[in-house]
Amino acid sequence: MTDAKSAALPFWRAKKMSEMTPKEWESLCDGCGRCCLNKLTDVDTGETVYTDVGCKLLDGKTCRCTDYKNRQAKVRDCVRLTPRNVKRLTWLPPTCGYRLVAEGRDLAWWHPLVSGNPNTVHSAGISVRDKVAASEKDVPDERLVDFIVSWPGKWPKGSKGKGPVAPQTAKGTGLVAALKRAIKSKR
Ligand code: SF4
Ligand code: SF4
Repeated sequence: MTDAKSAALPFWRAKKMSEMTPKEWESLCDGCGRCCLNKLTDVDTGETVYTDVGCKLLDGKTCRCTDYKNRQAKVRDCVRLTPRNVKRLTWLPPTCGYRLVAEGRDLAWWHPLVSGNPNTVHSAGISVRDKVAASEKDVPDERLVDFIVSWPGKWPKGSKGKGPVAPQTAKGTGLVAALKRAIKSKR
């Protein structure tokens, strides 16, 4: 890409992830909170499914971590996203800003970097607002299978287009028998 062309592009299109400043890197997060939901991984197939049980530090209204600075000290399996690991984390939601940019795709209209408004991630039905059924503080690991949901792995209807859409929810899959221990895989 020529310098003139890259200068006309926003940073997430013009730069490699490894070239982004810490501020730019952090701003790729749309604030959806999906990655802060507990997940279950099939130990045989490696398939990961989401539950609607939130991390103990997830605020279900703001969809933000309540102690982002100390998150990794407080939540052992909170995963820190880096330019190196982002492509390996196949469980990242399809809507995730890091995943989209790592795959060479553009951010959607509701991403705060595009809309200029941190609320569009909620109005577009992308975030976990009002969709977190419980906190992991209240759900033992062996009961997580009762909370499997498919919506965190999907784009809500209409969210790739223009304008606000209603949030969608969908109930769990038939994988329950094969699933074992949860991993919490987060940024
Ligand atoms: S899924 Fe991606 S965009 Fe959403 S909160 Fe997690 S890191 Fe941020
Ligand atoms: S998964 Fe990590 S970033 Fe998300 S709420 Fe828990 S500690 Fe915070």
